[in-house]
Amino acid sequence: MENYLTDETAGPVSPQPATDVVLVKPAAVQEVANILKLANEKGVPVFPRGGGTGLVGGTTPTANGIVLSTERMDEVEVDKKNLMVVAEAGVTLEKLIQAAENADLFFPLHPGDEGAHLGGLVATNAGGVRAVKYGIMRNYVKGIEVVLATGEILNLGGKLLKNNTGYNLTQLMVGSEGTLGMITKVMLRLYPKFEATATLIIPYEDRHNAINTVPKILQGGVIPLAIEYVEKDLIERSAHHLGERWPAEEGKAFLIVIVTGTEDEEVYSLCEKISSICTENGSDESLIAESKKDQDRILKIRSNIYTALKPFTADILDVTVPPASIGKLLDAIDEIAERYKTHIPVYGHAGDGNLHPHIMKEEGRGSEYVKKLKIEAYKATIELGGVITGEHGVGKIRTENIDICLNEKEMELMREIKKAFDPNNILNPGCCPFK
Ligand SMILES: Cc1cc2nc3c(=O)[nH]c(=O)nc-3n(C[C@H](O)[C@H](O)[C@H](O)COP(=O)(O)OP(=O)(O)OC[C@H]3O[C@@H](n4cnc5c(N)ncnc54)[C@H](O)[C@@H]3O)c2cc1C
Repeated sequence: MENYLTDETAGPVSPQPATDVVLVKPAAVQEVANILKLANEKGVPVFPRGGGTGLVGGTTPTANGIVLSTERMDEVEVDKKNLMVVAEAGVTLEKLIQAAENADLFFPLHPGDEGAHLGGLVATNAGGVRAVKYGIMRNYVKGIEVVLATGEILNLGGKLLKNNTGYNLTQLMVGSEGTLGMITKVMLRLYPKFEATATLIIPYEDRHNAINTVPKILQGGVIPLAIEYVEKDLIERSAHHLGERWPAEEGKAFLIVIVTGTEDEEVYSLCEKISSICTENGSDESLIAESKKDQDRILKIRSNIYTALKPFTADILDVTVPPASIGKLLDAIDEIAERYKTHIPVYGHAGDGNLHPHIMKEEGRGSEYVKKLKIEAYKATIELGGVITGEHGVGKIRTENIDICLNEKEMELMREIKKAFDPNNILNPGCCPFK
């Protein structure tokens, strides 16, 4: 049971799991339906679980009840003709990427941990690296099979690029964090494999120059697959954690930009264009990785920053602002850090306006300090037109701050939606957006 009681949330803010919990691993949708029907009749809470890689305690069973894992439901089938994949909720991100590649297609999105399951990725509307060009999970999801709290099975949407038939219940499920239904199968859009790709590492001595270049790249007419912002000590820590070496020697902060195209010439010319925008904005000379192996290694080092920092982290934030305000967000975080006489390491998906400031554990500074600092960061984000979470979700640890973002009318509408889908409140109680 132990491994099913928590997720990857930083220890100090991770919710306390309940003590009387059973784990159920159905192998088919009808079994999921039977379990939910029974739980609904008896009023037993059910906590949907994917890969347990969530960062907001979403899957943690905080009341006595059932942990429902779809890990045995892991069939995946690529429909090459329609550029779609139909996959069960227990398929891992790693298996999904591989299945697309085996069919000469591509699933661009890469939310960090490849152990995440498709059900969890959809339920959290995951983002991550490689979301600048084709968007986040929501943009890929075209159809969902879902089991309601009552045990009824619904097939929403389909292998369709257009569908205007009534309210979009498919998209309502995306990002619902296990509170509206148990996702059992998903239809996703795929893309043709890129003939050519390159990853640029662009070093900067001044981190503000780095972050301020991001909107300029986008305004320059180039939409790369990814624009990531990382700081030297963090990325080197991650490389060290993996037994790797970070390839750039110069620079205190870096942009990592992934460029794609139909042929090498096109990619080179895009890389040149991006490099020259960056040089004009204070960067040192860019490094370019062309082989798949080198590009995969850079992605892996980037994806593991959180894992390397987790033991020292009190909370990882997920603040998001309009892309052009990303520089102002970094300024605001710096200003807060200075006032609190601390250092707040920052990295994130800069092309999406999404940063992950880490509040680090500090001797003599407890949970009240973490709460205060967090609220300051949230207020600064909201002043810039942003939100408190861009991709990790609300889960069970951000509910206490939800009123900063959502007004009473919005909460009322959400309460009504929840009631319509889950009248007895058995699905993931205490999770997004209600305490
Ligand atoms: C190292 C690392 C890097 C990460 N990087 C990113 C990143 O770049 N971008 C990003 O967005 N996230 C990132 N994450 C967070 C995490 O990987 C995502 O939130 C992921 O989508 C969670 O998927 P999961 O299968 O692990 O879900 P879980 O953690 O198991 O569950 C997450 C939520 O989804 C619900 N749920 C799970 N399965 C179902 C289902 N079948 N039906 C209904 N509800 C369900 C759960 O109840 C819970 O509320 C990272 C995590 C780690 C550890």
